[in-house]
Amino acid sequence: MTMQAGIDAGGTLIKIAYLSDAGSEAWEKAESRLPRSDGTGADASRQERPQGEAVGGLRAPTLLKFAASRLEDAADWVRANLPEDARIGYTGGQAERLRRLLPQYANAVMVPEFAATAEGAVRIRAYERGGAVAAAERFVLANVGTGTSLHLVQGAERPRLGGIGLGGGTIVGLTGLLCGLRDYEAIARIAPLGDREAVDLTVGQIYAPAEPPIAGDLTAANFARPVPPAAGAQPQDYAAAVIGMVAEIVVTVAAQAAKMQGTSRIVYVGSSYENNPLLRDLTARFTEMLGCEAEMPERGAYCGAIGALHAAVEE
Ligand code: ADP
Ligand code: MG
Repeated sequence: MTMQAGIDAGGTLIKIAYLSDAGSEAWEKAESRLPRSDGTGADASRQERPQGEAVGGLRAPTLLKFAASRLEDAADWVRANLPEDARIGYTGGQAERLRRLLPQYANAVMVPEFAATAEGAVRIRAYERGGAVAAAERFVLANVGTGTSLHLVQGAERPRLGGIGLGGGTIVGLTGLLCGLRDYEAIARIAPLGDREAVDLTVGQIYAPAEPPIAGDLTAANFARPVPPAAGAQPQDYAAAVIGMVAEIVVTVAAQAAKMQGTSRIVYVGSSYENNPLLRDLTARFTEMLGCEAEMPERGAYCGAIGALHAAVEE
């Protein structure tokens, strides 16, 4: 049997979904290919093997990730793990570069990124909800990767609605500029301990001591606190403020798009939601506050890879 794989080579991370000959019926998530936050080698400790049904005729793939800065490592992994007659669906901005490193894999198909992401989102949702792919689904898809892209998914129609240059890359880049911390895992870990009010200007701060007309903890202006606290803002405060800003703006734009499209369901995907409890919590809270329902599929980082895999299987 020919092996099949979908590879989403994005601006920050390369995501791979593949079907092995073993015909696994469980989705396996092995994130062991990323360098550890201390920069030493691979972390093979995190593995996840949830059980479940195959999705829409697609057997459950194994999932893994590489840093996009290590394109050669991803190519080495493909050479070591996929036979040369494997059918590979490529998508994402770095797909062409990666494909050129693997000329011996001639059985390849290039899949447009937006189509792959939307198809993957539909399949992952169906899988995680334990059901079949519903034909009449209608939701706004917010893909929060390095940057953010918004789509409408309406059955087989999936137009792109727009995008913003604010996303996971902003979390890493801006926190790095503010306090020198650029390690995503470290940023996501300390952010819940931070205090945004050390950095942001809230409605409550403006109105104090009077009662504000809206919730006092709402942001009046990001990064606009006029006088920093006596002890100065700490790295965790910057991390919380940056994640807060990304969450607020992504949700605001997505909710407006959803209202314009006559739906209230927003599905948030992209690696930015992985292991980032503050971003997840704020996203859920703001979405609800704006009258919409948020979904953050557990495997949402792999939408592009699953969509590309689907294209490789179908062709
Ligand atoms: P892209 O497709 O553009 O590569 P992703 O959907 O993979 O984007 O999301 C990339 C973002 O995910 C990063 O900007 C960062 O905020 C976050 N992220 C999650 N895990 C990691 C990680 N291990 N290393 C770097 N960034 C990560
Ligand atoms: Mg992407």
